[in-house]
Amino acid sequence: MSDWMTRLKTWWSRAISISKGDAFLCDSCKWNYGSICTRPERPNAKKCPDYTGKG
Ligand code: SF4
Repeated sequence: MSDWMTRLKTWWSRAISISKGDAFLCDSCKWNYGSICTRPERPNAKKCPDYTGKG
């Protein structure tokens, strides 16, 4: 499968998750890069006291 197709599928499944309200918080969290966040919930947190939107 070509690379753009993989990206499209990833984007699409994420869009579906967001629209259903079951997306993982980490996907849109400011701390979800490098080793900034060391929580065990990462990268699949559904609830997190440290969650900070990227906004
Ligand atoms: S702070 Fe919480 S929501 Fe953000 S990346 Fe870490 S575990 Fe995920």
